[in-house]
Amino acid sequence: MPIVFDNRFARKFPEIITHQPIKPDGKAKLVWLNDNLWAELSAGEQLPNDLADRISGVAPWPGTEPVAQKYAGHQFGHFNPYLGDGRGLLLAQVDVEGQLQDVHVKGAGPTPYSRGADGRAVLRSSIRELLASEALHAVGIPTTRALALVRTEGKIQRERLEPGAMLARTAATHVRFGHFEHCFHRGLQDTMQNLWQDTVEVVWPNLADASIADQFSQVVKSTAEMIASWQAYGFIHGVMNTDNMSLAGETFDFGPYAFLDEYEPEKIFNHTDAGGRYGFLQQPGVGLWNLKKLAQAISPLAQTETLQPALDSYEPELRKAYLNLMTQRLGMSSVPAEQRMSLIGGWLSLLEVNHADYQLSFRDLIDSIEKGEPIGLLSQSGGSWWQEYKTATGKNNDVECMKQVNPWVIVRTHHAQRVIEASDAGDDSLLRDYIAALLNPFSEALRDSQWTKPPNAAEKVSQLSCSS
Ligand code: AMP
Ligand code: MG
Ligand code: MG
Repeated sequence: MPIVFDNRFARKFPEIITHQPIKPDGKAKLVWLNDNLWAELSAGEQLPNDLADRISGVAPWPGTEPVAQKYAGHQFGHFNPYLGDGRGLLLAQVDVEGQLQDVHVKGAGPTPYSRGADGRAVLRSSIRELLASEALHAVGIPTTRALALVRTEGKIQRERLEPGAMLARTAATHVRFGHFEHCFHRGLQDTMQNLWQDTVEVVWPNLADASIADQFSQVVKSTAEMIASWQAYGFIHGVMNTDNMSLAGETFDFGPYAFLDEYEPEKIFNHTDAGGRYGFLQQPGVGLWNLKKLAQAISPLAQTETLQPALDSYEPELRKAYLNLMTQRLGMSSVPAEQRMSLIGGWLSLLEVNHADYQLSFRDLIDSIEKGEPIGLLSQSGGSWWQEYKTATGKNNDVECMKQVNPWVIVRTHHAQRVIEASDAGDDSLLRDYIAALLNPFSEALRDSQWTKPPNAAEKVSQLSCSS
């Protein structure tokens, strides 16, 4: 069977799109294809051997209908009405057994919303997005996915001249909070109504007939759960502007993101975020702030009071999801909730005080349980926490489950940078190797892998550029 396209966004929302073909940047070469994702999307259609040409606009892709979407958003707290797809295009929507998936190409050339910028993406940032989205997916965090990466012939000017790329990604939707802010700002009430209903139908078909308040409640819950999982896995998004918030609650738009190496919750990675608005510990609060902006934007559709209960449910939903995940990561299913909270708090202070690695400490805990004696951190300053934990968990039966939720490998900035340097120089073998590890992050075989190692003092990266 061939791929089933249903480009309904382009068809239904002419007032908030611009038809725009992909503008090639020279010839393109396929660097990486997500075979599993292709298999899901393609309904058995054979991989076209000119896929790189189709993604990069060199050859037509029959059935697709590329458009740039118009949206607005709050960036670092300030409303900006001039946003939109400045370099990405919604290429098509694909019907996967009744559920639509967006296919989008980033780096596809300038659009009416480029605001003077070049419409391109560098290989570096495209690789970073690929790594993060597949890593998040592999640990079970909702995210847009990377479908294929192509390198182009173009050289892109950023802080220096860099190789260019285009990344094809999939998402449940590319509708952002900022789409509704745009409709609100421009008084496009019918469009807003249709867009809200259409997005709900696409993402949560079971809520098609529910009230706006109940539908909004689902958006709140999905957002809360996504952010809870960021907090549990030490992921810092870095640019939580409302135009980077997907209505579907998928992690969306990867810029200066980072996963925590050392547990340093106060650290700011995004060097343009001097005020620390989007620091690790700010994320839950910013999520709510963003949801409030969304609630204001859709106020023409529903009385604000009817949306308030959903906003009120945000914090409890986030706490519940966070507690669940940390309970799994720490193997505490048999421990009463109150004591679990206290153990989580103690665990985090222990890591923070000792500058311990956020990811590998969980693995040390597993090793300690299996050995029946504390190792590493737990044998030293963590002794009293370990005793409390042992007493609470008794004969811990969660160990095998813990191994399924505590990754050996996560995206580490220093590894990503090494991979990028190799790919920039034309060698993609490291990239492939890292992706393979990230896709299988719980594998015991990775225990001694190069990708498991935290950065040494010289490898630590403290600031990330926004340029992409
Ligand atoms: P971001 O910071 O990635 O969320 O992007 C903010 C806005 O800038 C979006 O409207 C993007 O489409 C646009 N943008 C980012 N980079 C470029 C670029 N190189 N060319 C054109 N538009 C861009
Ligand atoms: Mg963005
Ligand atoms: Mg971006």
